[in-house]
Amino acid sequence: MPKLDYLGRTTIPKVIRDTLSLEPEDELEVKLEGFRIVIEPVLNKCRICGEQTEHKVRNIPVCKKCLDWLNGSRAKKMG
Ligand SMILES: [Zn+2]
Repeated sequence: MPKLDYLGRTTIPKVIRDTLSLEPEDELEVKLEGFRIVIEPVLNKCRICGEQTEHKVRNIPVCKKCLDWLNGSRAKKMG
């Protein structure tokens, strides 16, 4: 059973990492739900609004809504 170390770190069992195809340096969101600690991979979440998305820009998940918004504000700046 994984334990917390003195810095508050723990290990996600290999079988779980393999099931979710988690790699070193993948981002994880840690949330508290009642007395449960929920660790959720942020693999397919838009880095701007947090919506689930399959859309990526240079391998970074960004949903189409935010991409349109970014393109819109860039177009405005350029006049
Ligand atoms: Zn978004």
